[in-house]
Amino acid sequence: MEAVTVVGASLAGLASARALREQGFEGRITVVGDEKHAPYDRPPLSKEFLAGAASEDDLRLTEDDEDLRADWVLGRTARALDTRHGAVELDDGTRIASDAVVLATGARARTPPGPVPAGVHTLRTLDDAQALRRELVPGARLVVIGAGFIGAEVASTAVGLGCEVDVVEAGAVPLQRVLGPEMGAVCGRMHARHGVRLHPGARVSALVGSSRVTAVRLEDGRELAADAVVVGIGAEPNTEWLHGSGVVIDRGVRTDARGATGVPGVVAVGDCANSYRAYTAVPMRLEHWTNALQQPAAAAAALLGREHSAPAHHAVPYFWSDQYGHKIQFAGHRTGDCTVRIEEGDPATGPFLALYCDPRDEVTGVLAVDLPRSFGGWRRRLAKRI
Ligand code: FAD
Repeated sequence: MEAVTVVGASLAGLASARALREQGFEGRITVVGDEKHAPYDRPPLSKEFLAGAASEDDLRLTEDDEDLRADWVLGRTARALDTRHGAVELDDGTRIASDAVVLATGARARTPPGPVPAGVHTLRTLDDAQALRRELVPGARLVVIGAGFIGAEVASTAVGLGCEVDVVEAGAVPLQRVLGPEMGAVCGRMHARHGVRLHPGARVSALVGSSRVTAVRLEDGRELAADAVVVGIGAEPNTEWLHGSGVVIDRGVRTDARGATGVPGVVAVGDCANSYRAYTAVPMRLEHWTNALQQPAAAAAALLGREHSAPAHHAVPYFWSDQYGHKIQFAGHRTGDCTVRIEEGDPATGPFLALYCDPRDEVTGVLAVDLPRSFGGWRRRLAKRI
């Protein structure tokens, strides 16, 4: 194999280029990214960077990559994958031919339907975070739509900057799908404890304001005054450009546990990949930093025919979130029929660790708030299940 093209110049794309080199690939690596920035870290965008405690330089991911010898094509969008001729076509008409392609195009923030007035933001990119940061001045009234992880982190950062914050959540409690009703309620109470008004079970009917947003109208008729709005209603995989390529798209790029698509020489990794997971025994598209970092090793090995050097990606799903000075960590998965048991601490008074147990009382997931050591132990125990 002489050349590999990586599409997507972020964490999973960079980790793929690194994995190819670490596994002995000496050929040409071209990394295409539609953002003008070199790879940077996204988690701080809703935390330290938004708070002004980290700079753009602090986000750089390529500090230790002098030996990568990659050709970076930044500010260019891949618009088609020609699997018959082994080429990626860019928005300026350039075609990059290679023997293999890594799809690492991640996801984008879901946007509200229709035109939106100025002052309404989503948060996925460095440019998004810079624009939002300018709005979060002391006394500004911020309405966050969606109390998922990004929405909750933005609310937490904004209240720390002296903003007045309302959070609108359609569900009865935040994060119900991921954490379930009991633990979702625990996370919901964090908002109130820090002076953020949470509006559960509330649906948005309109963003009010002609040139600039002035309020968020709810279906029950209430209006929440707003100087700025953040829409945190989830993310969509960037896969549209692959239509017609032969790669199977099913809530992301469908892959096996190694990241291999059905098309020879094409793998997918990170947030864009809906990969089979040994842990859950079903395909899942994860939007977790650790997955984007770890999954490429197995995918690179699959491309290079070196499966023996990197096992299929069997890690336990893991993510963390920082809210109101608390470290929330979750590993494993929650099924609809599981029960939740508090194993350590007390959610009402401070740090705690909760176990998610299936109907046979087997632990399938673990959630901890401010108990990283105990959490680490349970995460390792979960890994032994695979
Ligand atoms: P992405 O980071 O989305 O990168 C994909 C890249 O490909 C982007 O630059 C995109 O613009 C580019 N691209 C897309 N289409 C094309 C195309 N056609 N041509 C060229 N380039 C293209 N995870 C955690 O576990 N914990 C956290 O606390 C946490 N916090 C987060 C906070 C924020 C604000 C965000 C946005 C994410 C957070 N995450 C967190 C998730 C984590 O950052 C992602 O899982 C990770 O960035 C995924 O990496 P990726 O490379 O797969 O995709």
